[in-house]
Amino acid sequence: MHTKLEAIKGDITKLDVDAVVNAANNSLLGGGGVDGAIHRAGGPAILEECKQIRARQGGCPTGEAVLTTGGNLPASYVIHTVGPVWNGGRKDEATLLQNCYYNSVRIASEKNLQSIAFPNISTGVYGYPKQQAAEVAVQAVKEYLQKNETSLKYVLFVCFDDDNYTLYQKLLV
Ligand code: ADP
Repeated sequence: MHTKLEAIKGDITKLDVDAVVNAANNSLLGGGGVDGAIHRAGGPAILEECKQIRARQGGCPTGEAVLTTGGNLPASYVIHTVGPVWNGGRKDEATLLQNCYYNSVRIASEKNLQSIAFPNISTGVYGYPKQQAAEVAVQAVKEYLQKNETSLKYVLFVCFDDDNYTLYQKLLV
């Protein structure tokens, strides 16, 4: 595997990578948290493309991902994926979260991108336990990389809080 997986701490909107992943919601129309931050920093071009995707396919199902421009972000693209709302583990949340990471890496690879940065999907308002989410995230990316050829050289897990940063550092040693 020639792809480097790395945990960093910081604001995903500042990163100069080929694609940043957005923890979007099913509507693709923007929300709070990292979604709000990405749309604020990236400007209206991102929402415009989200609206076009909505017109075509009616939003984005949980676990799936769509690609738009990065607008004014340093990143060229935003990959919007919709994480599951945590429901005590009774609603197949792990599979859905795994799909978010897998599909985002797949789309980045299909676009021939070299670097992608993920936020800690579903661990904000969607309430997914951080340790379990981090394990699913790393496992899903590794599984994709084991099964597929990829253009990706860097997969960054961007942690906004110390808890997540500590968890990811432990998982990525
Ligand atoms: P979700 O609805 O998927 O839980 P949130 O946006 O509420 O999405 O939170 C997802 C994660 O993104 C949380 O860990 C949150 O701390 C983090 N986050 C919020 N803003 C930023 C940012 N600017 N850069 C990176 N991560 C962020």
